Amino acid sequence: MTKTNKNTQIVSAGRKKAYTQGVVNPVVQRASTVVFDSVADLKAAAKKRGDKTLFYGRRGTTTHFALQEAIAELEGGEGCALYPSGAAAISNALLSFVKTGDHILMVDTAYEPTRDFCDKILAGLGIETTYYPPGIGAGINELIKDNTRVLFLESPGSITMEVQDVPAMVAKANERGVMTMLDNTWGNGLHFRPLEHGVDISIQAATKYIVGHSDVMMGVAVANKKYWPTLRENSYLLGQCTSADDAYLALRGLRTMAVRLKQHEQAAIEVAKWLETHPLVDHIRHPAFATCPGHEFFKRDFDGSNGLFSFVMKQGNQQAIDAFLDSLHHFKMGFSWGGYESLVTANLSMKGLRSETGWSQGPVIRLHIGLEDVADLLADLDQALAVYESHL
Ligand SMILES: *Cc1c(COP(=O)(O)O)cnc(C)c1O
Repeated sequence: MTKTNKNTQIVSAGRKKAYTQGVVNPVVQRASTVVFDSVADLKAAAKKRGDKTLFYGRRGTTTHFALQEAIAELEGGEGCALYPSGAAAISNALLSFVKTGDHILMVDTAYEPTRDFCDKILAGLGIETTYYPPGIGAGINELIKDNTRVLFLESPGSITMEVQDVPAMVAKANERGVMTMLDNTWGNGLHFRPLEHGVDISIQAATKYIVGHSDVMMGVAVANKKYWPTLRENSYLLGQCTSADDAYLALRGLRTMAVRLKQHEQAAIEVAKWLETHPLVDHIRHPAFATCPGHEFFKRDFDGSNGLFSFVMKQGNQQAIDAFLDSLHHFKMGFSWGGYESLVTANLSMKGLRSETGWSQGPVIRLHIGLEDVADLLADLDQALAVYESHL
């Protein structure tokens, strides 16, 4: 068969009859114990263990196999490991490959729990982390040491949205024998596919756009041929597994991801354009806007954007931010993103979230633009920004 479009792939991937038993969606197969008819059957399953063969519940059932196959196809990898959260996917991918005495390079704009994992857990195991500025590009070469094991990227960066020059960094890592991992939650596999740019392991918080309805925690890590066997085996050894019901919901979310993303993308660009001209707003941190650091890499490497972006205020204080947040109606306050609903978070400064790159600009407000009508969202922002101004 000819290579299909990604939008078609996310509809058709993982729908083998062995998983669906003849209906459209996979059967939800809940299991701990798998029972075998004979010693020969048990031995055969043990030999192929984890390789989409029923062996034991922790190693997945047909529901998990369907999701794993679909995500591996989406990201263009050899296999996909499932985790109970995005944070678990990140920590377990790292733990699967590092040992005491190793060094890792972590982007300074990493998701906060990723930084905390390095500083609190990896440091305690004798694994050293160096944070690098997101815009370092090929300059990463100078930070690679003899014991550097992993170069970890997150593009765009959390909250401030810096897009990284992935190919330039991966080329240097490859030259020096350093493996690469990338948190691709924003890029989602439809808009950015790290493995096509030479990254070894692409990680997503499936909690966000794959699940898409704010009702399941799930992490995925897709590895290339070289690293898949170790990632799979070590994640199993670390006890990582998810429920069949959650795998089913993630797969259901995936089927509509392309059409949801189109709406999120269009609405977010409309909102960002409106904010761009607002007198209180300094600039927009949306990868598709020229004011976002690394915009040129977004244009070169990505196929689209989504509902998550930030904007920087010219000035502000905590009271103004709190009053702004309290006055919003459609934008709900809360963590996570990627569901059908609009969300907002705000940071007065980046204190504690960055160590190598300072932040001397105004408050950063991050929006997730959901599937509500854009006119209602703009009206909501308009009145809340007036409240913000009244507190300056
Ligand atoms: C949310 C998020 C995670 C963590 O995912 P959880 O499922 O919430 O643990 C990791 N990386 C990024 C970029 C995220 O936004």
